[in-house]
Amino acid sequence: MMEKRELKIDYTLYREELPRGYESLAAAARDAALRAYCPYSRFAVGAAVLLDNGEIITGCNQENAAYPSGLCAERVALFAAASAYPAARVLALAIASRAENAPDEPVTPCGACRQVMAETAQRFGSDFDVLLLGATSALLTRASALLPFAFRLP
Ligand SMILES: [Zn+2]
Repeated sequence: MMEKRELKIDYTLYREELPRGYESLAAAARDAALRAYCPYSRFAVGAAVLLDNGEIITGCNQENAAYPSGLCAERVALFAAASAYPAARVLALAIASRAENAPDEPVTPCGACRQVMAETAQRFGSDFDVLLLGATSALLTRASALLPFAFRLP
């Protein structure tokens, strides 16, 4: 028997405005991008995590001459948040870039970061918002939707 299924991702676009209540989280992500260490790609990325205890934890990409040793802004922020407050639930993650030739489109997380985001949602049993910032920004209310069929250990 065959059963065809379809995946759907809902998101909202914001042009020249931000979703209400996300101004400070967006500012924190954009500010974090200023602290990126990205001499190789020159693609500065900042991320900011909002926790249920009210804390905002930021991260920026950290590159290294031995390329795989670096880490994306999203994972720097999520791991720092989990290290500082292991019991705090993630409510939202904002991602911004400050590349010299940044496109207007919102910056999007790589596959490895999506995997970490999916497990973060699974770990706390609650999905969280993802705000992808750009001249046009996108708000997703389910982080796990960014990685269908995420890897899980059996
Ligand atoms: Zn990444």
